Amino acid sequence: MNHDDLADWSKRAADWARDYHAGLRDRPVRAATPPGATAARLPAHAPERPEPMEAIFADFQAIVPDAMTHWQHPRFFAYFPANAAPASMLAEQLANAMAAQCMLWQTAPAATEIEEVMIGWLRQALGLADHFTGTIHDSATTATLSAVLTMRERALGWAGNTGGLSGQPRLRLYASAQTHSSVDKAARIAGIGQDNLVKIATDDAFAMDPAALDRAIAADLAAGYRPAGVILCVGGTGIGASDRIAETLEVAKRHGLYTHVDAAWAGSAMICPEFRGIWDGIDDADSIVFNPHKWLGVQFDCSVQFLADPAPQVRTLGLRPDYLETLGQGQVTDFNEWTVPLGRRFRALKLWFTLRAEGLEGVRSRIRNHVAWAQEACDAIAALPGFQIVTAPRLSLFTFALTDDAETEALLRRINDDGRIYLTQTRHQGRFVIRVQVGQFDCTREDVMSIPAVLAELAGITPP
Ligand SMILES: *Cc1c(COP(=O)(O)O)cnc(C)c1O
Repeated sequence: MNHDDLADWSKRAADWARDYHAGLRDRPVRAATPPGATAARLPAHAPERPEPMEAIFADFQAIVPDAMTHWQHPRFFAYFPANAAPASMLAEQLANAMAAQCMLWQTAPAATEIEEVMIGWLRQALGLADHFTGTIHDSATTATLSAVLTMRERALGWAGNTGGLSGQPRLRLYASAQTHSSVDKAARIAGIGQDNLVKIATDDAFAMDPAALDRAIAADLAAGYRPAGVILCVGGTGIGASDRIAETLEVAKRHGLYTHVDAAWAGSAMICPEFRGIWDGIDDADSIVFNPHKWLGVQFDCSVQFLADPAPQVRTLGLRPDYLETLGQGQVTDFNEWTVPLGRRFRALKLWFTLRAEGLEGVRSRIRNHVAWAQEACDAIAALPGFQIVTAPRLSLFTFALTDDAETEALLRRINDDGRIYLTQTRHQGRFVIRVQVGQFDCTREDVMSIPAVLAELAGITPP
């Protein structure tokens, strides 16, 4: 295959993509494929001789789409969304065409500078203070790991990176049980240990109790531990819970701890000023992560980390071996020094395309609709006999259940085998609950209101 062929096939692929998207509503949202079915259709060995693209493309069409769960399906209400506005897909095609490795300013000046400008656009769009700068990661997991590594090194006076952790004081991190498992993973990978991630009690609204945090830090200090940082959440994955940011940051700062706020999902909604109350006080955070690849419409993967001061993170993650020395270092940003991997994709391009093609007003109106429709669907489910709303909508996420766990679980299986909508579960206070999040970019009010209709039908209820 040469580049002329690539141009022809790219047109075929674009036509295929248009038809795929146009036909999504006719497909079950979740793949109905049994485990092993796809692998069984592939030869066990790579071909020795080149195969024609015609055959490869035909196999793609025959094997892949039916064995995929369709994240761009307008009735995808599972997990959190992974939206991909068409403009962001186009930007990915262009980034793919150049296939640059954007580790240094010198290896990709435009990628570096567009990344810096996009961080500024997003900072303003989210209403954050002017002092924040930042970078783009592949995922919130990596951004949180970067922040936790920074907490570790800062607490150890940057001795861990060189000397290792053996013989060092036992570090402690603090978060509520509503934070994402990526925080537990970061504690593991950073060598701090999951047992040293102290889960602080929450209040009636499932926010971390700042007084309990204060007591836990004091107790750890008295016991000879070294507190390193606090991870706060805005819009947790289970039920969308948020910590009381201002009060919790105040406690952390009083103890001199580094702070990281995980707003991976809910951060996108902060482009709407009326929702910003859930992160009041955010400007005092050291680090904030949010995923434009979730609700903002920027194709996966694209996770933005804002930093009040990049210096501690760059000191933690940055290395300058001889072979990466470049002219002008010091006047330009080499973003590999801000992130865990050295190699970097040109992710800023899809942010630039998406924000321009949709406009902030376009994204805001989508998010506002999602929040309003989630409330409407929640009210309709509350009216179904036997259904209970377990947690009310936080932005566009709520949970419901039937009276006992086994029935709820059986209902969820029926919903997803049916395929018209896709919902997933979590456990809340020991109870099996079904999550509904409204956030898919192409969903309409009718798609959202199909949730109560499908539930009523599958539960054998005549809608009131
Ligand atoms: C989705 C999510 C994450 C993980 O995001 P990745 O980008 O997939 O690593 C972390 N925290 C919260 C609150 C999330 O919603």
